[in-house]
Amino acid sequence: MAILSVYADRSSIKFHIYQMDTENLIASGIFDRIGLEESYYSISFDGEKITEQVELPDHMKAISLLPEKLMDLHIIQSFFEIKGIGHRVVQGLDRYSSSVFVTDKVLTDIEEVQDFAPSHNYGALMTLKACRSLFPDIPNVCVFDTAFHQTIEKESYLYPVPYRWFKDYGVRKYGFHGTSHQYITNSVKELLKREDFKLISCHLGESGSICAIKDMKCVDVSMGFSPLSGIMMGTKSGDIDPSIIPYIMEKEGKNAAEVIEDLNVNSGLLGLSEYSNDLREILSQCEEGNEKAILAKDKYVRRVVDYISQYYVLLGGVDVLVFTAGVGENSISIRKEVCEKLSCLGVKIDLDLNHNQNEVIKISSKESKIDIYIIPTNEELLVARETLKLMNSR
Ligand code: ADP
Repeated sequence: MAILSVYADRSSIKFHIYQMDTENLIASGIFDRIGLEESYYSISFDGEKITEQVELPDHMKAISLLPEKLMDLHIIQSFFEIKGIGHRVVQGLDRYSSSVFVTDKVLTDIEEVQDFAPSHNYGALMTLKACRSLFPDIPNVCVFDTAFHQTIEKESYLYPVPYRWFKDYGVRKYGFHGTSHQYITNSVKELLKREDFKLISCHLGESGSICAIKDMKCVDVSMGFSPLSGIMMGTKSGDIDPSIIPYIMEKEGKNAAEVIEDLNVNSGLLGLSEYSNDLREILSQCEEGNEKAILAKDKYVRRVVDYISQYYVLLGGVDVLVFTAGVGENSISIRKEVCEKLSCLGVKIDLDLNHNQNEVIKISSKESKIDIYIIPTNEELLVARETLKLMNSR
C-alpha cells in the first residue's frame, strides 16, 4: 500500500511516497517557488532525479500535476495506488494532541491558528484543500508538529508573564519539531524494546531543538511560543533577553518586526561568526583559526549543553541521549564536544564509534552512565506511519 507524505509552506510542497509494506521510499520531490517566477518541480526515484521548470501559480496547480508526473515517469501506474495522504502541519496550537483525519473543522482550525505560523499553515491549508478537491476518495490525515508537546505540564509551558496573556491571547510554549522528536522516541522504544525510559532528543539541524521525554511522553522542549526560542541555531538567536529588542529598535531605527527578523535570519551561527550559518563552514573556519567562528561554535555547544543539563535535572537522570538532524547525525566534533562537557553527568562517548555518521548506532563507551545514540530522523516516514495507523484504526 502506498502513502503520500507531504510538507508544504507558502511557496513549496515537498513530497515522499512510501510503499508501506516495506516502508521503502518509492519517490520524493518538491514543487518549488509556487506563486513565484521560475517555479519548477523535481522528482527523485530509482537513483534518478528529474527537474523541470513549470508554471505553478498556486498549490492546486502543483498538486494537480503530481499524478501526471508520477505516471509519466512510471513511478505509479495509477494514482489509485496512493491509499492515503499524510500532511505535516507545523502549528495546531493546543487543539490537537494526536494526528487526525481531515474534516472541515480541522481545516477551519488550521486557518484560525495561521497567525502563529503564517507561511507553513497557509501552505498546509492550500495543499489540504487541493488534495480533498482533486482526490475526494483518498483519506487525508494531519500530523501536527505541536501535537507531541501537548503532554508538557502547565508549569513548563506557561511563561512567567501576566496570566491573561495566556488566557486571552494563547501566549504559551507550543514547541516544534514534534514529528522528529516523536520519530526518535519511537526508534528508541524499538531499540530498547521498552517504553519506560528517560530520553533527551537533540534535533540539531539548520534549526534545532532539545526535547525531554519520559515514558514516551514529552516533558519539555526548548522551542517555545515560536521556533525562535531555545538553543542557538544557524541563523536564529534562540533565547535572549527581550529587553534587547526595544534597545536595538531605538539604536537602529527599526520596528519590532525588523528586529525579530534580525533574530530569525541574521543571528545564531551566522550572527556571531559574521561568516556562515552552515556549521560545516564554521568548523572549517575554526581549523583556520578564525576567532569569531570559534566563538560561534563554542556558544552553539554551550547552548546545547545548557539545555541537556537542565533536562537531565528535570527528568531526574537520563537513560538515552540521541543526536539527530544534519548536525547531530553528521558532526563528529560537535557530538564529541557536547559529550565531553557533560562528563560530570557520567556521559562518555566512544571516540571511535563517534566516527560513524548518518546511521542508527550507539556511540557511548561501556563506562558511560547514559547510552548515546545517533539516530537519523525521518519526519516524512513518521507522517506516513501516522496516516497508515489512523487508516487501520477505522
Ligand atoms: P533543516 O533544519 O533545514 O532540516 P538539516 O537537518 O538538513 O536542516 O541540517 C542542516 C545543517 O546540518 C547544515 O546547516 C549543516 O551545517 C549541518 N551539517 C550537515 N552535515 C554536516 C557535517 N558533516 N558536519 C557539520 N555540520 C553538518
